Amino acid sequence: MKRFDFRSARVAPAAIAATAAAALLALAGITYAQQQQNFDNVVEHVLPVQGNVYMMVGAGGNTTVQAGNDGVLIVDTQFAPLAPKIEAEIKKLSDKPVRYIINTHYHGDHTGGNEALGKMGARIAGGNFAGNLTDAANGADILAHENVLNRMSGKQPNGAPNLPFAMLPTDTYFTASKDIFFNGEAVQLIHAPNAHTDGDTMVFFRRSDVISAGDIFTPGGYPVVDSNGGGSINGLVAALNRIIDLTVPADKQEGGTYVIPGHGHLCDEADVVEYRDMATIIRDRFEDAIKKGMTLEQVKAAKLTRDYDPLYGATTGFWTTDRFVEAVYKSLSEKK
Ligand SMILES: [Zn+2]
Repeated sequence: MKRFDFRSARVAPAAIAATAAAALLALAGITYAQQQQNFDNVVEHVLPVQGNVYMMVGAGGNTTVQAGNDGVLIVDTQFAPLAPKIEAEIKKLSDKPVRYIINTHYHGDHTGGNEALGKMGARIAGGNFAGNLTDAANGADILAHENVLNRMSGKQPNGAPNLPFAMLPTDTYFTASKDIFFNGEAVQLIHAPNAHTDGDTMVFFRRSDVISAGDIFTPGGYPVVDSNGGGSINGLVAALNRIIDLTVPADKQEGGTYVIPGHGHLCDEADVVEYRDMATIIRDRFEDAIKKGMTLEQVKAAKLTRDYDPLYGATTGFWTTDRFVEAVYKSLSEKK
């Protein structure tokens, strides 16, 4: 508890709204577009990963659950309507309260259940928490990089209503990483700068030996660069390399450190290496093309991703190959 040193972020939203509003106005419809679906038939599947860590797959981003004697820690909360289903599955794993929710980034398919699932919890109140007893009794702490709070607390894009206060991160960090100790293990929150967004956190469960990567790793398709949310292809490649630094493969077999991706199936280091290699090769091709002075139209015509399209490409849905190509081109051509 003494190590809990997240900078308190219960600041008046008005104080940050002025700066956040400008950025949020420019946002692409990533958050909003994903909320137009029916969740009635979604089933939450729970997979024991390793140690104290479970992976929960429903709709939206994957949820990571760590449970033990101290209570429950959740990474990402899918969409709001799924919270009762997630809650039911968590109760099968533990009768203890949810103490921590960690958001890997601000997107609505990873933060939607914050409010409802946060109410399942009771905060770990520190010795100097007396002035805030009501808060201490209500809800889990919601931890995230401070850019997540900045993007969630201001005006939302496409005329969407402001997010409820109870959905916002309660404690943020702005340094390279932050540590907590929970359920007998060190849990590291590691900031990946300007990768999928500008507020990405990967969560490393050190004793369980599991990394919850968020959307810096989405092995079912091309890397998602949220240009308007501060993402960049170079940041994504760097973040994937960071994961590879932290993971250790088991000797001549699958396993070792497990990696829970933002979307998609459970992976290990070899999967991340394959994905990193793809992202790096495509990044380098685009960089060469831009150096040669090629326009976006010329790059599209040159089909620089052709050999990877069967594995990662898409012509329909939210993240098409065209959108990926545009985002990578924009990301590299805007670089100073
Ligand atoms: Zn995302």
